[in-house]
Amino acid sequence: MHEPLDLKAILRKKRDGGALELDESAAFLSAAAMGEATDAQCAAMLASIFQRGMTAVELAGFTRGMVATGETLDLSALGAPVVDKHSTGGIGDKASLPLAPALAALGCVVPMVSGRGLGHTGGTLDKLEAIPGFSTAASPAQLIATLRAAGCAIVAQSDTLVPADRRLYALRDEAELVEALPLVASSIVSKKLAEGLDALVLDVKFGSGAFFPDPERGAALARTMVDLARVNGVRCSALLTAMGRPLGAAIGHALEVREALACLDGGGPADLRALVQQLGAELLCHTGLAGDREAGATLIASALDDGRARERFERMVRAQGGESEALARLPSVATVEAFEAPESGFLRWRDVRELGLAVRALGGGRRRAGDPIDPAVGFEVAALEGALVARGEPLVFLHHRREHGLAEARAHVAAALTIGEHIPPTPLILARF
Ligand code: URA
Repeated sequence: MHEPLDLKAILRKKRDGGALELDESAAFLSAAAMGEATDAQCAAMLASIFQRGMTAVELAGFTRGMVATGETLDLSALGAPVVDKHSTGGIGDKASLPLAPALAALGCVVPMVSGRGLGHTGGTLDKLEAIPGFSTAASPAQLIATLRAAGCAIVAQSDTLVPADRRLYALRDEAELVEALPLVASSIVSKKLAEGLDALVLDVKFGSGAFFPDPERGAALARTMVDLARVNGVRCSALLTAMGRPLGAAIGHALEVREALACLDGGGPADLRALVQQLGAELLCHTGLAGDREAGATLIASALDDGRARERFERMVRAQGGESEALARLPSVATVEAFEAPESGFLRWRDVRELGLAVRALGGGRRRAGDPIDPAVGFEVAALEGALVARGEPLVFLHHRREHGLAEARAHVAAALTIGEHIPPTPLILARF
C-alpha cells in the first residue's frame, strides 16, 4: 500500500521548480476535480506552473491526468469519424458555430467540449447561451443523444467530462493565469482527448488579440499540442491564424451568433467563411472524406451554401434545449452608437485585446468566476483592416445597454485602433503544422 500523497508537498515541489511525477499530477488534479483542494491551493499550483513551466514529459503526464479526472467517450457505436476543432481563443472567433454543423452535414460526428470566456477572449459556450433556452450542460448520455439527433453538440466540461479543466479554467480566468503554454496546451488537449476523437484540428492564434501574440510562441504552442494529440493516437494538425484583427465583424455573444447564422446561410464575412473552410478541410482530409484540402474546402462551402449546415445547427439547438423560434429571438439592445474615425487615413488594428476589454466594460464579460454576462452588448466593426477611411466615418458600432460602461468601452476601442499609413494586412493563415 502506498501512503496517500501529501498535497502540500506536491505544491511545494512545483513552487520550488521541480517536475511533477505522474502520480503527483494525478493526485493534485484529482483533489482539484473532487473539490478536496481549496481555491488557494489550486491557484498556487497554477501560478507555479505559470512561473516554472513544465518539461515535455511532465506536460504529457499532466494532460493525461486531467483527462483521467473524468470519463473518455467511446463514440464508435455512432459509426462515423469522430472529429473536432479547438481554438486558442481570440476576438470575434465564432468559427465553431458554423464549422461543427458543416462537418456533421458531411458525415462526421463532432462532440465539441468547449469553454467560457477566458481572459480578454469570448467563449463559445457563452455565445451559444445567448440563444434562448440553449443549454451547454450535458451528461455523456445527453451529449450522445444530441450527437444522434444532429451529428454535432457543443457542451461544457462537467463532473464527468474533464472536471479538472472545469475548475482550473475558471480559476485561471479569475486569477489572470491564462497565458502559460503548459496551462493552455493541457486545458485544450485534455478536453479533446476526453472526446475520444479520431482527428483534431487546432486553430492557434497569433497577433495582439491572441494569448501568445508572437507567431514564434504560437508556433511552439501549435507544435506542442499537435505532438500531445498524436502521441495519444489522434490524427492532428494545426493552423497558425491571424488574430491581430477581429475575426469577422461582430464581437459580443448574440451579435456573434447572428454572424455565425449568416455564415451558415452561405454568407457572412469572407475571413470567417475562409477560416471555417480551411479548418474543416483539415479534418475532412484526416478522415479520408476529402482527397485534398482544396476538395475539403469545397465540400465545406457546399454544406454552408445549400442549407445542410444550417439545418444541422438548428437540430443541435433544438436538441440542446433551444426554445422554438429561438434563433429569431436573440437578445439585442435598443441603443447603438458609432465610434467615428478621428482622422482620415488607413485603418489599422493596434491592439485588438482592447476590444475584448471593451466588451467586458459593456457588461459582456466576467470580472469574477460565475458573474452573469449581458449577451446582447458588443460591437460591429464597419471597416476592414487596411481600408481607407474618412474623418468622421463610423468605424465601430457599439451596442450598449443604457450607456452602461460606454465611456470605458469607447476608450478601449480608441486604444484598439489607429489611423495611419497603409500596411498590407497579415495573411489569415500563416503556417500549418
Ligand atoms: N481554450 C481552452 O480550452 N483553454 C485554454 O487555456 C485556452 C483556450
